[in-house]
Formats: sequence, C-alpha cells, structure tokens
Amino acid sequence: MTHPTAAALADVLSRIAAAARAAKRDPASVHLVAVTKTFGADAILPVLDAGHRQFGENRVQEAKSKWPALRERYAGIELHLIGPLQSNKTKEAVQLFDAIHSIDRPKIAVAIAEEMARQGKRLQLFIQVNTGEEPQKAGVLPAEAASLLRLCRGELKLDIAGLMCIPPVDEEPAVHFAFLAKLAQELGLAGLSMGMSADFETAVALGATHVRVGSEIFGRRA
Ligand SMILES: *Cc1c(COP(=O)(O)O)cnc(C)c1O
Repeated sequence: MTHPTAAALADVLSRIAAAARAAKRDPASVHLVAVTKTFGADAILPVLDAGHRQFGENRVQEAKSKWPALRERYAGIELHLIGPLQSNKTKEAVQLFDAIHSIDRPKIAVAIAEEMARQGKRLQLFIQVNTGEEPQKAGVLPAEAASLLRLCRGELKLDIAGLMCIPPVDEEPAVHFAFLAKLAQELGLAGLSMGMSADFETAVALGATHVRVGSEIFGRRA
C-alpha cells in the first residue's frame, strides 16, 4: 500500500502538472521543493523512497541535524534554504545547501560570495523580495531589488537564478505573484520561487519555477 505521505506527494505533483498544463506550461519547468521543517527522518523517508529529491528547510541548524545522515543513504538530494540567513551561519549554509532562496541584503550576498569562493562550491541563488513591504518580513524592498541584483551580478560575480517572495497572509497571493513575475522579467531573471501549500497552483499559473510546499505533503506542523 502507498504510504499516506507518498500519496500526498503524488497528489501535489499531479496538481502542479495540471496547473502547468492549464497555463500552457511544461510541467517539468516547475520544481517542487518539499518543505520538511519540523519533520524528522520518519516523515521524510517515504518521500525519498518515492523518488523525490528536492527539499527545503528554513533553519541552518535544523537542516544540519537531519540532512547529512539522509544524504548518506540517498543520492542526488538537493537541499534548499528557504528561511532567513544570518551572516555568521553562512559557512554552514554553503556547506549544507545546494540553493539559497533568501538573499535580501548586500551583507549576506557578500558573505555568500566569499564562502562559495572559499569552498569552491556554486549554489543556486534567489533574491527574496518583500513584495508586501511588511516591516517585520525578510526580503529586499521592491525598489531596492535592482541595485542588490547589480551588486550580485557585478562586483560579486554571483549568478542569480531568480526572485522569491512570501506574500502577506491577509492579501490575495495572485497580486504578489504577478508583481514578482513582472519584476523578474524586468530584471532579466528566469527563476520564480513562489507558492506554498495554500496557493501553489495560483503560483504555477503565474509562472512559478519553484513552489515550496510543506503541510500539503507532510501534514500540519506542531
Ligand atoms: C514553511 C515554509 C513554506 C511551506 O509552507 P506550507 O504552507 O506548509 O506549504 C514555504 N516557504 C517558506 C519560506 C516557509 O518557511
């Protein structure tokens, strides 16, 4: 019998594919980052056994406590940092992760560039944009995204894959997804990390290349 978590994964993948086809997009152009924060190896194993390899965590320490052991057992795991990064954690982050979605200020871009050079490792990188301009939320303000990108591409020689956003909880996500897609287009960026459990189909309709889905696969977090 299929494990319930594996069945939930299959359901999310088929919904992504349907949303992509409805938008006349290739389903293979949308990556599912399965968000495992708060969940232990027991919950993650059925998803690995089902063949899925792209995962997201929002904390460096938590990722460090579970993923090295899983990487020893499964080849091809791609780990994405989707939460805010402190500069004193950059070294560990570059060691542990294959992608970082949360570049949101010059200081962290500089730290990542230095650490990638030191470790000889290239990560896939996204700039997080605070599309709702919420004071408490991470992300560069939309008006400052172009200059942060200029720093990354110029002086730091960082290859930026795209933009990421987390819309305000009380607003229509489609407005923010459309805004992020337009900003990415203006900046010449192809990647769009947007869409979570409640709104990933909307995000795919608006061009998401990476959706970050947790609870719809693993259940409610404690
Ligand atoms: C937790 C988290 C998600 C996944 O949220 P769900 O609603 O459980 O799908 C996506 N993105 C970020 C940045 C997160 O922290």
